[in-house]
Formats: sequence, C-alpha cells, structure tokens
Amino acid sequence: MERTLVLLKPSTVQRALIGEIISRFEKKGLRIAGMKMMQLTDELLDDHYSHLLGKPFFPALKASMMKTPVVAMCLEGVDAIAVVRYITGYTNGRKADPGTIRGDYCMSNQQNIVHASDSPEAAVVELARFFRPEELYDLYDLNLDRLYAIDEWQ
Ligand code: UDP
Ligand code: MG
Repeated sequence: MERTLVLLKPSTVQRALIGEIISRFEKKGLRIAGMKMMQLTDELLDDHYSHLLGKPFFPALKASMMKTPVVAMCLEGVDAIAVVRYITGYTNGRKADPGTIRGDYCMSNQQNIVHASDSPEAAVVELARFFRPEELYDLYDLNLDRLYAIDEWQ
C-alpha cells in the first residue's frame, strides 16, 4: 500500500466542487487515510512549491493557493501515488485528457483543481508537511478483497 498527498485547491473550494472531486477518488477505490481543511501560508507554500521558486508565475501561484482554505487529503491504495497522478491528468487543464480530473473540471494551467504528489519521495515529504502522524488513520476494514486480488495488496 502507498500513501499520497492530495490538495483540493482554492479553485475547487470556490467552485463548490469539493464533494465531487472527493467522490472521484473515493469511487476509484482509494481510501481516505486523513483529511482536513486548512489555510495555507506563505512559508508553507515556499516549501511546498520550492521547485518552482523563481518562475514568473510563482507569486500568482502562491496567491491563488491562499485565496481560500484548501482540503488536504491522504489517499491510500496499491500504487496510489502513480494512480492519483494518472487520474489527475496533465498540469494544464486545457491539455489534460477528458476523463481525468483536470481534463473534466478546469480550463487553467494554474487553477487546476488538485495537487498530487509526483513520486514516492515527494509523497513522504509532503504528507509530513501537511499531516501529523496521529492525523492519519491506519487501515480499517475496507473489504480489500473487493478492491484487489489478494496478491496485489499483501
Ligand atoms: N503552475 C502554473 N504555471 C505553470 C506551471 C505550473 O501556475 O506554467 C502551477 C499549477 O497550479 C501547478 C503547480 O504550479 O499545479 C505546480 O506545478 P508542477 O509543475 O509541479 O505541476 P503539477 O505537479 O501540479 O502537475
Ligand atoms: Mg508537482
């Protein structure tokens, strides 16, 4: 099992799409191991988007991420990091494939509905940045045999 960080960005909150986007992940079969609403700060975004520091769009990106609180989620499943990136789609909503979350719900390269960790290393760092260990809940009975073949998750 893997865990990954998803943020429902202010574009999702402002457009009243929180329930719809959570539902996409839930229906896919990803387990919600933790979830909370939080207001992001300048300092946290400097860390979270440190790979983009110096890009011309960096100040606008940070401002867009602080417009409203976000919903932070820890999603869990087999290959969850890659699966969540795949169903999230390309960064730019105008180029993202139909059927992906960004492809179905946005027109923007910046206001693109969700953040999703892009590698196992990033997932570990990002989950620790957004959640305290006690805010993540261990596997409860999700009837895993309905989601996976036994050799896929054991
Ligand atoms: N972004 C932007 N302009 C760009 C590229 C990225 O505003 O030209 C924003 C966008 O919101 C994106 C975030 O910066 O989701 C992080 O960029 P990254 O390249 O990590 O894309 P992601 O992993 O979110 O697909
Ligand atoms: Mg990224």
